[in-house]
Amino acid sequence: MALKGVVQDITQKKQIDDTIKAKEKAEAANKAKSDFLANMSHEIRTPLNGIVGFTDLLLKTKFDNDQLEYLKTVNESANTLMEIINNILDFSKIESGKLELNCEEIDIIQLSNQIINLFKYEANHKKIELLLDIDPNVPKCINGDSFRLKQILVNLLSNAMKFTFSGHIKLQVVQVEEGEMFSKIKFSVIDTGIGIKDYNQKKIFQSFVQADNTTTRKYGGTGLGLAISSQLLALKNSELKLKSNHGMGSKFFFTVAYDKMPCKPNNLEVKRDFVQNPPSHLSNSICSFKVLIAEDNKINMLLAKTLVNKIIKNCDLIEATNGQDAVALAEENLPDLILMDIQMPIQNGYDATLEIRKSDKTKHIPVIALTAGVLNGEREKCIEHGMSDYITKPIVQSDLEKVLSKWLES
Ligand code: ADP
Repeated sequence: MALKGVVQDITQKKQIDDTIKAKEKAEAANKAKSDFLANMSHEIRTPLNGIVGFTDLLLKTKFDNDQLEYLKTVNESANTLMEIINNILDFSKIESGKLELNCEEIDIIQLSNQIINLFKYEANHKKIELLLDIDPNVPKCINGDSFRLKQILVNLLSNAMKFTFSGHIKLQVVQVEEGEMFSKIKFSVIDTGIGIKDYNQKKIFQSFVQADNTTTRKYGGTGLGLAISSQLLALKNSELKLKSNHGMGSKFFFTVAYDKMPCKPNNLEVKRDFVQNPPSHLSNSICSFKVLIAEDNKINMLLAKTLVNKIIKNCDLIEATNGQDAVALAEENLPDLILMDIQMPIQNGYDATLEIRKSDKTKHIPVIALTAGVLNGEREKCIEHGMSDYITKPIVQSDLEKVLSKWLES
């Protein structure tokens, strides 16, 4: 009897199947890691917001010197911890390719000044000269992600401040090439600090790496700042570069091509006025405002209530602990403004706002999102869901003042 059959070499097919399976497994593991980090950071940040917010408030009351010192330490430690958590979250987002850059108008001169202002106090204290050098050819407005540009420059300037003990620190902004539609801008942060040994100059750009083992003990830090900055620049096809001589200082620099854009006329003067003169008309107002706060976390609710009460005297506060209650209480009480947390049980802040916008009775009420601030596209999502504005947690009194002024005034 003759036997017939087909012989097929399936080695290659098996190899392809194995590769696909391994890739799927790696992707699932990576997603699980990102989800875990996002959840953890939310869980850690919520109580931290309470510590930062309430120590901020406590610091404005009277204490003896020792108590003030202790309290400042608690406040600074909580802020540092928040920075570390945000860094780790950023890092994992970039690694998993989830970080997208925003496109918005950036006023380079204003942004550079804002950044320099952040370091003035420390520079004065350390007796270091702080210089800002902007090439007059730099266009006034460009199109880019101002939050991320600030993040990189603040990172570089914080390092310069940390590792410089005399001399100067300079932020230099120069246009190196110009086209009809674009401008290539070189940003440099130059210091006269301790410098970096040759053999460490590559290694410090890696994540979680510092120049040497004594750095953490002496200066703190996680070794993530330069890695994150480099990865953010890679998204703009740019690279963070370094020139340094040990003992003689360092220069960190990068060049980015931005689209030029005409500056929109803005009502900056009005906004500045809000910053300098907090809205006294709100506090002195005889007519009382009705504000609804939707927030499920007790500590955050207490902080929000305390701050609103400090800003608006005679304020009628209504509390909701989930989105569904917020919608019902808005219909019933018709508040002048709603502060809306995003992540809440039963119904989240996005869906609650959509419902508020659907009802003729409540659709005109300003809804201000209270966002965690770091999640991808959160700001756009707030606007898409009909929210009027947003402030990031931990709520800072001056931010809340500005927003309340803006929306209650109108
Ligand atoms: P971190 O500062 O949080 O440790 P970074 O990634 O920002 O992390 O920096 C990594 C290391 O590079 C620092 O720990 C320090 O050793 C070195 N470094 C960075 N900037 C400077 C600078 N301007 N002068 C001297 N050393 C620096």
